[in-house]
Amino acid sequence: MSLPNTNTHILVFPYPAQGHMIALLDLAHQLSLQGITITILITPKNLPILQPLLTKNPLIQTLILPFPSHHPSIPDGVENVKDIGNKGNIGIINALVQLSDPITQWFKSHPDPPIAIISDLFLGSTQQLATQLGIPRIMFSSVGAFLVCVLTYLIQHVHELYPLDEVSFPHLPKSPVITRAHLPSVFLRYREGDPLSETVKDGFIANTSSWGTIFNTFDDVEGVYLESFKKVVVGHERVWAVGPIELLGCSNGPAATDRGGVSSVSAVDVLSWLDQCSDASSVVYVCFGSQVLLTRGQMEALAKGLEESGVQFIIVVKSETFIPEGFEDRVAGRGFVIKGWAPQVSILSHRAVGGFLTHCGWNSVLEGIVAGVMLFAWPMEADQFINARLLVHDMGVAVKVCEGVDTVPDSAELACFLRESMSEKGVEKVRAMELRDKAFGAVKEGGSSMNDLNSLVKELRALSVQKA
Ligand code: UDP
Repeated sequence: MSLPNTNTHILVFPYPAQGHMIALLDLAHQLSLQGITITILITPKNLPILQPLLTKNPLIQTLILPFPSHHPSIPDGVENVKDIGNKGNIGIINALVQLSDPITQWFKSHPDPPIAIISDLFLGSTQQLATQLGIPRIMFSSVGAFLVCVLTYLIQHVHELYPLDEVSFPHLPKSPVITRAHLPSVFLRYREGDPLSETVKDGFIANTSSWGTIFNTFDDVEGVYLESFKKVVVGHERVWAVGPIELLGCSNGPAATDRGGVSSVSAVDVLSWLDQCSDASSVVYVCFGSQVLLTRGQMEALAKGLEESGVQFIIVVKSETFIPEGFEDRVAGRGFVIKGWAPQVSILSHRAVGGFLTHCGWNSVLEGIVAGVMLFAWPMEADQFINARLLVHDMGVAVKVCEGVDTVPDSAELACFLRESMSEKGVEKVRAMELRDKAFGAVKEGGSSMNDLNSLVKELRALSVQKA
């Protein structure tokens, strides 16, 4: 039976960090294409990140609210985690709680207010806001289901678990035991009695009461953890795994070049450089996401390793990163250095790229899977150790090469590892190609993620009918 044609208006509230925003904006686009009215809440300095989407999809509306007055832990003018690093999350989460009043005013004065809020998992305070407004809140998780199961348990039992050297998760598949250093940063940064920490904790606990949850993941990667999330964390079935979201609606793979920021190099230049690389799958792509700033020592070791390996590579570093003198000249022709923002998805999907040295941020993980490249893991902080564990131990599609945010890798070992891994077709490469096929299968008509997207759209429409 088809539902009557009512306007289904959703407020989408992304968390201001590239790794959180990119997938949610892709999802907003897909929902809009299905006839759902979308308003995206954004603060002024993050508006440029939205611009490519607004150009592509003029039907999407924006609600631009000033960034709330800053807490001393966030420098004046900062509105995005990339400008302050992972440690800035606590301050930014606290600041954004203050948007509840202006959102309520907007909602009450809107002629056709939203019937639901979709907001990031770092915005747990919107749960209470949605309850006050009398509408459901749907949590959007820009990280995987394994991580959310782990994090929720840690936060719910923070007082007992915080002092431990390792934590067991007997209620999760394979009963993982995880050492303290590998636990998510949000948990490690918790300080009992500190009001900022308590707000963060309350937000994650509120997430467990959200009406529904959307994950950027898919069954073949995290099916068992999605089941755990449904049974153990929320206790209901309104959980939709619609990933890899970057692939939804593009049967030939993703095409976007300016996702999350304007590239510092022209995509045409970097792609033509890749075109002239001799063999398929011969180039290693090195990038550590939007937040990591490599130290001088790390960059020296990495540069030396890449130089000695003899492999072809592209490395992306923040514009302020130290580059060893003469490095670019010495590797000219076989190495491409990008300072700033790279068109990552376009690079990864080029046939010349065969390996990805990654910090294992969840988006990079999915983008690497979609590209079918071998993943060389260097988890540093946040969710990255948990993601690396899933890839290396559970799935066998990645090899760990280094770990820790302050660790300086051994350049000779790194060179040897890269040379050998790129010259042979290891079992991880074969598994990576299989997983790539499964990712494409998930987003096809009848695939698990496409089915979940259709079911989500149906549920959202049903909400607006109920409201009417
Ligand atoms: N990204 C990009 N260009 C860059 C660096 C990052 O397009 O130069 C994108 C990358 O493709 C991914 C996101 O930024 O979609 C980073 O998210 P991830 O979860 O991998 O890591 P985080 O930045 O959250 O640590």
